Amino acid sequence: MKAWLRFLPSIIGKAIISEAIKKYDIEFNILRAHITPRGGKMLAEISGPEERESIKFMEEQGIEVNPIIKVVKKDKDKCIDCGACISLCPVKAITMEKDWTVEIDDQICIGCGFCTKSCPTKSIILFE
Ligand code: SF4
Ligand code: SF4
Repeated sequence: MKAWLRFLPSIIGKAIISEAIKKYDIEFNILRAHITPRGGKMLAEISGPEERESIKFMEEQGIEVNPIIKVVKKDKDKCIDCGACISLCPVKAITMEKDWTVEIDDQICIGCGFCTKSCPTKSIILFE
């Protein structure tokens, strides 16, 4: 699952994530992060048979875990299918379909936000 993790200043510097990885043998892939001594947030992909237990552990240690289904959303009414966002996506999550509409694959998207900045019609929203 993909989730936004929020860290309060009181837990910055604690090895909670590495402890969870060791304890529950999870795969923890950091997609995006902004952490400072004053707190921070991280978009991560967490997977493994004990994924739920690992999340419970992280929450018990003070990390706020907000699972997300969609990383970005494209407003179909505003998008003019110009394709400007396609080449800017570093993981090729945006494609031009056979009917000339532009689609974003949420399974591939890493939430970098490049597409939101490049869109001339501001059609892409990044969920944070
Ligand atoms: S947020 Fe980044 S990874 Fe996701 S679709 Fe936009 S450019 Fe691609
Ligand atoms: S740049 Fe914006 S308007 Fe153009 S295809 Fe991408 S989302 Fe649609």
